[in-house]
Amino acid sequence: MPEFTPVIKKNDIQRQTVRIAKIISDDYQGRELVLVGVLKGAFIFLADLVRQLTLEKVKIDFLQASSYGADTISSGNIVLKKDIDVDIRGKDVLVVEDIVDTGLTLAYLIRHLKRMSPGSIKVCAMIDKRERRKAAVTVDYACSTVPEGFLVGYGLDYAEYYRNLPEIYHMKL
Ligand code: 5GP
Repeated sequence: MPEFTPVIKKNDIQRQTVRIAKIISDDYQGRELVLVGVLKGAFIFLADLVRQLTLEKVKIDFLQASSYGADTISSGNIVLKKDIDVDIRGKDVLVVEDIVDTGLTLAYLIRHLKRMSPGSIKVCAMIDKRERRKAAVTVDYACSTVPEGFLVGYGLDYAEYYRNLPEIYHMKL
């Protein structure tokens, strides 16, 4: 049986999401924002974040990239599995990630989205895990920072399990 240690409690996730949503709402006040969620891990975070935004005009779309294969560290071989449908030309885009680890996936996705000529592009991550960072990416809005470890819950999976856990755990196999 894997071992689970709580890392970020339900209340803390909620508090951090409210805090970040306020900053984003201030930064984009009076503007239209396109949130681009990165599937599958960001689906719960995005759903909670978007309901805290006090912006009038928000569009939501999703991308899906795969990088991990069977391992728990990014291989760097990233494949785009699902692209966005919303036209982001000239628009303010906020990429919503579950967790940024090596940053290779995010770097790939930003390069991909920039080809569609958005007006601006920023990144919001539920968790910024900086220790293994390989790509020079900027996380503009981070709810939590953790040093290392493999996390599950609140959207984050291991072999597609545990996404439904209401808080975030460190998992040891
Ligand atoms: P990166 O390319 O930054 O190394 O990895 C990004 C993706 O890897 C994330 O979007 C996420 O899907 C997955 N990932 C990175 N770290 C973790 C982790 O601790 N737990 C889980 N479940 N997925 C992770």
